[in-house]
Amino acid sequence: MIRAYSLSNFPEEGFKLYREMRNRGITPDPLSSSFVTKSCIRMSSLLGGLQVHAKILEDGHQSDSLLLTTLMNFYSSCQKFDDACKVFDEMPQRDTVAWNVLISCYTRNGRTRDALGVFDMMESKRCGSQPDDVTCLLVLQACSNLGALEFGGRVHSYIREHGFGNAVNLCNSLIAMYSRCGCVDKAYQVFKGMPSKDVISWSAMISGLASHGHGREAIEAFWEMQRMGVAPDDQTFTGVLCACSHSGLVDEGWMFFDCMSKEFSVTPNVHHYGCMVDLLGRAGLLEQAYQLILSMRVRPDAAMWRTLLGACRIYGHVSLGECVIEHLIELKAQEAGDYVLLLNTYSSVGNWEKVIEVRKLMKEKEIQTTPGCSTIELTGVIHEFLVDDISHPRKNEIYEMLDEIGKQLKIAGYVAEVTSELHDLGSEEKESSLSYHSEKLAMAFGVLATPPGTTIRVAKNLRTCVDCHNFAKVLSGVYNRVVIIRDRTRFHHFREGRCSCNDYW
Ligand SMILES: [Zn+2]
Ligand SMILES: [Zn+2]
Repeated sequence: MIRAYSLSNFPEEGFKLYREMRNRGITPDPLSSSFVTKSCIRMSSLLGGLQVHAKILEDGHQSDSLLLTTLMNFYSSCQKFDDACKVFDEMPQRDTVAWNVLISCYTRNGRTRDALGVFDMMESKRCGSQPDDVTCLLVLQACSNLGALEFGGRVHSYIREHGFGNAVNLCNSLIAMYSRCGCVDKAYQVFKGMPSKDVISWSAMISGLASHGHGREAIEAFWEMQRMGVAPDDQTFTGVLCACSHSGLVDEGWMFFDCMSKEFSVTPNVHHYGCMVDLLGRAGLLEQAYQLILSMRVRPDAAMWRTLLGACRIYGHVSLGECVIEHLIELKAQEAGDYVLLLNTYSSVGNWEKVIEVRKLMKEKEIQTTPGCSTIELTGVIHEFLVDDISHPRKNEIYEMLDEIGKQLKIAGYVAEVTSELHDLGSEEKESSLSYHSEKLAMAFGVLATPPGTTIRVAKNLRTCVDCHNFAKVLSGVYNRVVIIRDRTRFHHFREGRCSCNDYW
């Protein structure tokens, strides 16, 4: 009964039954305790779970692996990560499920790199349990977040060697991982090799193609999907609309937007509207984009206004930019990045008075900026850089390399745009050409530490700025390197002095 309640919409009834059982003098076995713990997870009741934990010790069930794994899960779901790890440490025997819970606990807790470390340990057979398909799913997710392509490739090999290769959910995760790590052709290989594809596979492939700027191919994949008789869902349309927007296909975008509800009974949600706003904004149809937002039945979210604000910056549309900021303030969702966009809108039309005003405002309101952070993977190890970072063990070589690259790029015509964009506003005073954004450090490290011709892959947590974008473009030509930067919203493939985004991002 407790178990049934733990799976139902009334988990608290399970907790009551457990208490009644104890009151009647019946000692629960590890299974009943495990089920009531699951009820506590469903109820998000920290107090209830703590009580159960105390009783488990009282009952002498502290060495039951299954029960302890459930307890770990409970602590992890209540954000009590240290307690979850403590339960794990005290387990006399740990099976694969327990290790998997540890991995998901790390991932939830933002300790993504440690999650990969657990996979390492499991694979090396140092811990007596081997990774299973669930481990692989969890680790692939972690690789996607980190942009850890090599590590993801290792997981892929493991999946093949252990015969999980035909599992649809694993293949779907591989497609997502490869696309998120900037390797859309590998994603396509996995996709092509799948014996059967579900709607998630198609959507993942379409989104992957779209985010890498292969708009036409993404749309082609959509029609192929229709020929195969797979019904699209809302994710599929997010991918297709995103494809239209990254490739500037306004007419196609409107066509898909109109037909999604009429022909496929998928009601446009906030993301779909967001893609349309992006598409119209990119095409310079700012007024249309604004009207579309105002016409929405659902309340527009901050991300949508931010998209429009980005377009205002590109087209130097000051009055609309000011109006959008008002909407963001009304939603109480304004972030440092929004003010930076507004500021850049002013600077793009040369209104320096307003630039100073916005900066003063930001200082007064003590608006926190997110520090820019870039990562680059080298033989399976993730290297992390912040702005003007000097914590890397090879920092001297990196800065020498940056100097050298700077000289080479200057010869090729690169001019540092010192005033262009101030996305790391915290370093206000340092906006001279002496300041290095994190992606420049990561790129320099890439040039330094990999053989000539190797593709450099960088993942960045914020939008990349115009200056770093120019830097990467020229670098890709001068050093004959493909540079792939994943920023907050999209991928930039730099090749022979050009970028796949056509300078719109
Ligand atoms: Zn930059
Ligand atoms: Zn670009």
